[in-house]
Amino acid sequence: MNCGEKKSGCEAVGGHAADDKLKMFTEDEALVRRLSKIKHKILVLSGKGGVGKSTVAVNLAVALAMEGWKTGLLDVDFHGPSVPMLLHLKGELFKGADGDGILPVESSYGIKVVSLGFALGDSDEAVIWRGPMKMGVIKQLISDVQWGELDYLIVDFPPGTGDEPLSVAQLIPESDGAVIVTTPQDLSLQDVRKSINFCRQLKIPVLGVIENMSGLVCPHCQKMIEVFKSGGGEAMAKEMGVPFLGRIPMDPQIVGGSDEGKPFVYHHRETESAQAFIRAIQPVLQLQEQSKPETGRISRMPQPIKEKEMKTLKIAVPTAAGSLCQHFGHCEQFALFDVDADNKTILKTTMVTPPPHEPGLLPTWLQEQGADLIIAGGMGSRAQELFVGKGIHVVTGASSELPEKVVAEYLSGELTTGANVCDH
Ligand code: ADP
Repeated sequence: MNCGEKKSGCEAVGGHAADDKLKMFTEDEALVRRLSKIKHKILVLSGKGGVGKSTVAVNLAVALAMEGWKTGLLDVDFHGPSVPMLLHLKGELFKGADGDGILPVESSYGIKVVSLGFALGDSDEAVIWRGPMKMGVIKQLISDVQWGELDYLIVDFPPGTGDEPLSVAQLIPESDGAVIVTTPQDLSLQDVRKSINFCRQLKIPVLGVIENMSGLVCPHCQKMIEVFKSGGGEAMAKEMGVPFLGRIPMDPQIVGGSDEGKPFVYHHRETESAQAFIRAIQPVLQLQEQSKPETGRISRMPQPIKEKEMKTLKIAVPTAAGSLCQHFGHCEQFALFDVDADNKTILKTTMVTPPPHEPGLLPTWLQEQGADLIIAGGMGSRAQELFVGKGIHVVTGASSELPEKVVAEYLSGELTTGANVCDH
């Protein structure tokens, strides 16, 4: 071999190494650039599979979108990416990148979704991934996705504390923290301790532990039946010094809804399970409020507009002197709008006078009027809970404009809401 050959051989090797380094650098740079547009990254972990981790991840994402936050959901659970089914997106594939990266699939619940399931298609066959291949796919899914600006990215992790969750955690630096899902049995709880230690070693804050499938809601009388013991999650969280977020009962409606791709936090919001879930995720719902004043938030259509029965909605707006009234409890009249959610048009407007002010009365009265949604200026948290309990969605922080304008902006996704000024 002459010197020239040797040199070119050396150059070739050096060239590859340099190429690889450059590729790694540009990939990392792309990853950091893409993730920097996401304000809050929440990891959903569990010590083992089957405890409801994906159910929590999906419903958390939907709850955030219903609050008007721009939300993405990343499902990197190799052991059965269930997010496509849970959101009625089975059979969807990545629709292609526009030259640079992967585009998320838009769900009708207002969230951007990326799942390993979209890469696998509709196949029910087991897919065997070798370790390095898995890591490559995870890296690509995290670095190549064009999320755009997001308030929240929820990451449905692979279960356990092995190589897969470790790789995902390392690829998502500076997360706000992890929500850890467990069931009440001792076996699950043992695994959760490992998940908490996993977070500690990686310096991931633990936002808290949710005890799922804790007791059963009787489908006939709606009373709670203790199936396994409950309370283990709370005791364990206390012992490990992490917040306990709450218990979510086992609920047949959750299973049915999951199989049909209907998130319970949206479709069964009035149930005890959904209310328990909403209470449990408060720390996550409040992260954005804590970091930034509530201005410029775009209210989204909380109704899944694909749903046939949801094509027409009734939207209520409290009014005084013809404009939206900031104190809904003391308004003169309610403007009720029948709207076509598909075509985003107002079909009919009716002005109705509410009964004399009495705490707690308006949610019941508006439910009787058939309202699906109230757009208000300010509203205290107790009142919001009462409306939600009656199946009426609440948007707060709208300004004192003509009610027609508020509803038209809401329908076109252009309603800008400010602070929730009233808190009584
Ligand atoms: P994981 O992601 O931990 O593997 P999943 O979220 O896929 O678990 O949930 C496993 C199964 O348990 C699903 O069929 C889901 O519908 C069901 N499930 C989850 N939480 C509940 C609950 N609180 N009540 C009833 N069924 C539930």
